[in-house]
Parts: sequence; C-alpha cells; structure tokens
Amino acid sequence: MKIFDIVIIGGGPIGIACGLEAQKKELSYLILEKGPIVNSLYNYPVNMQFFSSSEKLEINEIPFISKEAKPRRSEALEYYRRITTSNKLNINLFEKVTKVSKGEDKFTIVSNKNTYKSNHVIIATGFYDIANMLNVIGENLPKVSHYYNDPHFYAGQKLAIIGASNSAIDAALECYRKGAEVTLIIRGKEVGQRVKYWVRPDIINRIEEGSIKAFYNSTVKEILEDKIIINTKNREITIQNDFVLALTGYKPNFTFLEQIGISFSNDGKKIPSYNKETMETNIKGVYLAGVICGGMETHKWFIENSRIHAKIIVKAVLERGKKV
Ligand SMILES: Cc1cc2nc3c(=O)[nH]c(=O)nc-3n(C[C@H](O)[C@H](O)[C@H](O)COP(=O)(O)OP(=O)(O)OC[C@H]3O[C@@H](n4cnc5c(N)ncnc54)[C@H](O)[C@@H]3O)c2cc1C
Repeated sequence: MKIFDIVIIGGGPIGIACGLEAQKKELSYLILEKGPIVNSLYNYPVNMQFFSSSEKLEINEIPFISKEAKPRRSEALEYYRRITTSNKLNINLFEKVTKVSKGEDKFTIVSNKNTYKSNHVIIATGFYDIANMLNVIGENLPKVSHYYNDPHFYAGQKLAIIGASNSAIDAALECYRKGAEVTLIIRGKEVGQRVKYWVRPDIINRIEEGSIKAFYNSTVKEILEDKIIINTKNREITIQNDFVLALTGYKPNFTFLEQIGISFSNDGKKIPSYNKETMETNIKGVYLAGVICGGMETHKWFIENSRIHAKIIVKAVLERGKKV
C-alpha cells in the first residue's frame, strides 16, 4: 500500500490550500472530500455574497477576479473548482473519512470507500455539517430546515426565521423581498452586533417600519404543522406558520476529533488543542487547518485568516523530515 506524506481530510478552501502547498513542496498527498469540491460553499445560499473581498479569499496567490469587490457563491465555486482541476490536485470526491488511527509511526485513514496510510494527517473538516439544534418539539417536521437555500421557495408563505446573525438576517431580507411574510425570533435583545455593517441598518429599518416582524428576548417553545409557539419575555404567543428556518449556527464534528484523540479546552468553547506555531494537535502528526480550529467559536476563523495554515503545516511537516 502507498504511504502518503500527508492525507488531508476535507476539500474546502483550506483543505485545497493545504493540497496545493504540499504539491508545491513535492510531498505526496491525498485530499479526501465527502461531497463535491468545496462542499460547504456548494451548500451555501444560492445568492450568497461573501463579506470578504475576492483577494482575501485567494489561495496560493492565485488571482480571484470577481464582478463586484465581494464575490458571490457562484464565483467562489468557479475559483476553487478551477484551482482544483487546473492544478490536477490529488482529490477523491464523495469519499467520507470515518476513522483515523495511529500505529507505531503511521496513520491509517478509513473512508467509506477505501483505506489509506500516511505519515501525517491534516484535518480541515470545517463546521458546516452539524447544525446547532433548538431541541424543541416539532423540530423534525419537514417544514423546518437548518439550512437556507433559495428565497423563491418561500414566496407568499409565512416564514419564521430563528436567529439574529448574518445567515438569519440575510435570509430574512432576501425572503421578504421575494414576497415571504417574515417573522424573526431573536433570543437576545437586538439584531446581532456581528451582522455585516452594511446590512444591519437595512434589517433594523425593515423591522421598525413593520415590513419584517421581530420578537426579541424570545425563544421557540414548539413547532406545529401550521403554527409556532414562542416564549417571549412576558407571555407565550402562537403565530400561524408555514415554514421555519432555524439559522442558529453550526458546530464542528467533535465526535470525529475525539475519536482521533484530540483534546479540547473545557471552558465551553471546546477549542481543540494545537500548537499555533505548527498547527499540530496533541496527537503528534495530526494537524488542524481552517475554521475547525475555533471549536464552538465558529466566527473566529474564516478563509481570510486561516488560509495561512496551509503554509504553516507544510513547513512543519518538512522540518520534521516527512516522517512523524
Ligand atoms: C454563510 C457563510 C458565509 C461566509 N462568508 C465568509 C467570507 O465572506 N469570508 C471568509 O473568509 N469566510 C467566510 N465564511 C467562513 C468560511 O468561508 C467557511 O467557513 C469556509 O468554508 C471555511 O473553509 P474550511 O476549508 O476551513 O472549511 P469548509 O469549507 O467547511 O470545508 C470542510 C470540508 O470538509 C468536508 N468534510 C467534513 N467532514 C468530512 C469527512 N469526515 N470526510 C471527508 N470530508 C469531510 C466537508 O464536506 C467540507 O467540504 C462564511 C461561512 C458561512 C457559513
């Protein structure tokens, strides 16, 4: 069996950056991605616009040209796909890694299709696969989704959106403008402070003029086929409802990391242990790259500030002399 210098788990922007860097330094590597190329971006809302300008999303100094300063999802898909194909990256798509174990000096990586051996493993699995659940009755109804895609679907419908951060606010404005009757259910006392500075005034004005209804200091008690029950500060309210978008954030697959033996901070943030100089975890030879490094602090890392992880890790691998 071939032994790779590095197996990279996750073919998001940062996994791809790691593959490119490994290729540049003539290391043998394989990227394993459970979906299509940049699967998380593929599953973002169809009209989504990045908050970063395109040059901040560039990897390996390959120019990213977009029509507007801040690119759209479709342009980012084009960019990362072209990088992957034109550089002939060694990537296996639709192949999910289920287990990583360490032998004496090599790793065994098991996927749903095959088994591989490597000297080093990079985990770049992001945080977009597991939604933070509301844990209320009715959350499993087909009308409830934790992912938002296209506003057209909600035209003429009574849509409740739970959350107050960028994803929830973007969805609320977009769906309202395509004819949905939008109600926002917000746990805190205001629209999130991290909402993009050019979007926040728009949502606040729509709420103040009554175009979008908002319940602050409120949580969902129960979701029924045609209604939703909300606990507000003073009383329980029942409103008519056709669809629910629970956009309350996502979290990394901690079970996967635990199974590998990676430890976490125990302050509630669940930040995985790693050395900032090398990105190596408490398991020698296993490195973290990309947004997964933030644990529950999913806003801390993004493409802009984590693309550097690729260079840091490959340098550390080379200094180690390829072998663990
Ligand atoms: C709506 C939204 C907007 C954003 N806008 C910006 C922005 O403007 N600028 C910015 O810099 N950042 C932005 N971010 C943050 C950042 O873009 C993303 O989180 C980015 O995708 C992170 O890249 P990544 O490679 O670390 O993780 P991901 O892109 O999430 O890649 C992880 C990959 O790992 C794969 N995977 C997971 N588990 C396995 C497994 N077991 N086996 C194989 N493959 C697996 C997944 O399918 C996925 O493709 C945004 C995030 C969201 C949600």
